[in-house]
Amino acid sequence: MIRYDVLIVGAGHGGAQAAIALRQNGFAGTLAIVGEEPELPYERPPLSKEYLAGDKPWERLLIRQPGFWEERSVAMLLGQAVVSVDPAGHGVTTAAGEMIRYGSLIWAAGGHARRLGCSGGGLAGVHTVRNRADVDRLLVELPEVARVVVIGGGYIGLEAAAALTKLGRHVTLVEAQGRVLARVAGEPLSRFFEAEHRARGVDLRLGAQVDCIEGTDRVTGVRLADGSVLPAEMAIVGIGIVPAVEPLLAAGARGGNGVLVDGQCRTSLPDIFAVGDCALHANRFAEGACIRLESVQNANDQASVAAKTILGVEADYDAVPWFWSNQYDLKLQTVGLSAGHDAALVRGDPGTRSFSVAYLREGRVIALDCVNAIKDYVQGRKLVAEGTVADPAALTDTSRPLKELA
Ligand SMILES: Cc1cc2nc3c(=O)[nH]c(=O)nc-3n(C[C@H](O)[C@H](O)[C@H](O)COP(=O)(O)OP(=O)(O)OC[C@H]3O[C@@H](n4cnc5c(N)ncnc54)[C@H](O)[C@@H]3O)c2cc1C
Repeated sequence: MIRYDVLIVGAGHGGAQAAIALRQNGFAGTLAIVGEEPELPYERPPLSKEYLAGDKPWERLLIRQPGFWEERSVAMLLGQAVVSVDPAGHGVTTAAGEMIRYGSLIWAAGGHARRLGCSGGGLAGVHTVRNRADVDRLLVELPEVARVVVIGGGYIGLEAAAALTKLGRHVTLVEAQGRVLARVAGEPLSRFFEAEHRARGVDLRLGAQVDCIEGTDRVTGVRLADGSVLPAEMAIVGIGIVPAVEPLLAAGARGGNGVLVDGQCRTSLPDIFAVGDCALHANRFAEGACIRLESVQNANDQASVAAKTILGVEADYDAVPWFWSNQYDLKLQTVGLSAGHDAALVRGDPGTRSFSVAYLREGRVIALDCVNAIKDYVQGRKLVAEGTVADPAALTDTSRPLKELA
């Protein structure tokens, strides 16, 4: 039976970074990544952006070239899903029934795209955008498609709408809430992006519930709860993820909507760590609430903390959250977490398509959303990191660089 000193489950952002950080910090033991997808670790963000739009070829998505992993003796066990974990025996079992033993286990399995529960949700032509195979399937069908309904007005839905509009498809976007990005941003940002999408011909349906997907062999339309039908040859579902943690929870790990980890990314099971989208952790930037963050930043930073902890190097996860989204020629950069803000101040004129939204809680800057405003993003990070108490008039005065307020 094969054994690795460190076994990583999940060949995504967190898994790749954990292996990189282990070797960078001098780890000389045996190391393997077991991944459900057949691919070497690749960047997921372009899937709904440049890769979908045809602006970036697959080869440029790889996090490292194939030789990198070989040179560092990182065994890649790809196309294999781990289905169970035996914490006492320090072993995992794959779907093919193979048992792999480990000294330490890093669980970096991310999540699976949430599917529609309504009828027709499984029809041909209904897609999600979580991995390469999803997008490749969608791209094969696209030449035969004129109308697409995107379900979900979060970042992935909006990015897909932008990419498909650019490719000349007519896009209708259905969002259950009264505004797009309702879970992650304040109203000024939502309204700005809504106007941008509408200006490019996207038909936005806000406060609209999907009743079912219509079609016999393949999707022909999306029926809304008000009885109207949006005709379409393709539907894209962007309604979030379900964290991939069942084997860990079944093995007794604490958690629920994710697996619970401490500040060193340790789960409640011995020698098992978890990082990235699947890791439920107390986050200082969410007032200590236990949350999961779905971002490259979080996956990379937690992976580095887990790697250091395994090597006995002191490390705490306390990173400032950041994220980006590209839609059309707009580059949104966010820092901090805006949930729970009691004021959202617009800095600059959205009409110029370069502005920021500063979020405050009890006078402290807790987050910034910066649209085509890289200076604000770079300079504002410090305000968020330190929870600076800032004068609202100064924050909205664009003649004053944010670094002056730090
Ligand atoms: C379309 C899209 C666009 C995004 N855009 C952005 C962006 O602009 N900015 C940003 O910061 N973040 C973005 N994200 C989020 C970001 O990609 C994720 O937060 C990040 O990939 C999380 O890394 P991870 O290692 O936790 O999970 P992943 O990168 O998802 O890797 C997990 C891997 O584990 C595999 N796996 C799952 N279960 C098992 C199992 N049982 N056994 C073996 N392998 C398993 C999965 O197949 C997957 O390959 C985007 C995500 C998507 C899908």
